[in-house]
Amino acid sequence: MADGSSSSSASLGHLVTVEEEEELVYGAESGWVEARTSCDHLGSLTSDLSHIPTPNTQCNRCNNPNENWLCLCCKDVFCSRFVNKHMLEHFQQTSHGLALSYSDLSVWCYSCDAYLDAQVIPQLRPVYETAYILKFGQPPPFRTS
Ligand SMILES: [Zn+2]
Ligand SMILES: [Zn+2]
Ligand SMILES: [Zn+2]
Repeated sequence: MADGSSSSSASLGHLVTVEEEEELVYGAESGWVEARTSCDHLGSLTSDLSHIPTPNTQCNRCNNPNENWLCLCCKDVFCSRFVNKHMLEHFQQTSHGLALSYSDLSVWCYSCDAYLDAQVIPQLRPVYETAYILKFGQPPPFRTS
């Protein structure tokens, strides 16, 4: 009995569709916003950002417990536009337009209507670092300069 099997499995190459490309375009439209590396409103930052409230500080107005914003002009804490919009309200009443998110540590400028890159802008980097340490208990993984 000779085993004469010589079956060779043919490998069928699957064609790659162009769906991925479409997704990229869609993603650019709907999701990713590039943070600005400069802002004309940094002059309104409070001079002492070395001591800031802890990330679990409640909203000054409605006591919302977390995911709040820190006003970088007066260090008050307010809730986001997804809660009761108290940070937005604070900006409208005081023109304090620079705020740091305690949920993801991003910095938003209401006047520019844009995110700011806190790791690049020298005036924002110290407070970003302070907030990061408060939130995670260790300094952020910056490149050593
Ligand atoms: Zn609130
Ligand atoms: Zn303020
Ligand atoms: Zn700005």
